[in-house]
Amino acid sequence: MSRRLEPGRLIAATHNPGKVAELKDLFEPLGFTVVAAGELNLAEPDETEFTFVGNALLKARAACLATGQPALSDDSGIAVEALGGMPGVFTADWAGHPRDFYVAMEKVERELQAHNAINRKAKFVCTLAMVWPDGYEDVFEGEVHGTLVWPPRGERGFGYDPMFVANGETLTFGEMDPAKKHAMSHRADAFAKLKAALL
Ligand code: IMP
Repeated sequence: MSRRLEPGRLIAATHNPGKVAELKDLFEPLGFTVVAAGELNLAEPDETEFTFVGNALLKARAACLATGQPALSDDSGIAVEALGGMPGVFTADWAGHPRDFYVAMEKVERELQAHNAINRKAKFVCTLAMVWPDGYEDVFEGEVHGTLVWPPRGERGFGYDPMFVANGETLTFGEMDPAKKHAMSHRADAFAKLKAALL
């Protein structure tokens, strides 16, 4: 059985402002104060694993070790069916350095064209990892399925949001009211599982 996570200060082991904002929206109504790794000047560990779970644990362990407090990480990405699940764990890398997600979305579109892909199905996936100072760990995985549109639409959200339309919707995540995205996203799905187990 999972342990309880008591409301209070929670270290968000991410330097991605988009993820920090969404984690705040999910956790702060429940009495948590989310403090991002970037605000604490924690180093950003290299994501050396080849799975979402591996990278999520690596990031949460590093933040927990550095602060001595329970840490939550989010490793996420987009998996495109016609591209065999790519970019997957390499989703952030497709944006190059410095990160440019328009470039990343163009790369996805170029690869789909190169594969003559009629199938534009994709899913966002999210793994949330909780790590406590005594070494206790838990992971929760969420998904949201949809299709990719081109050109990208909308200025809201972050990352690949402007080219993703969730099944049953017409607006991209980049156009949608953030509250609506947060109710149906891969992060919300993983969060619901975390909430059921830990809160
Ligand atoms: P990582 O988890 O740090 O490896 O980065 C995952 C990447 O996936 C992010 O930089 C985003 O580009 C993308 N991503 C994850 N979640 C979302 C989302 O909710 N919307 C759009 N892009 C996302």
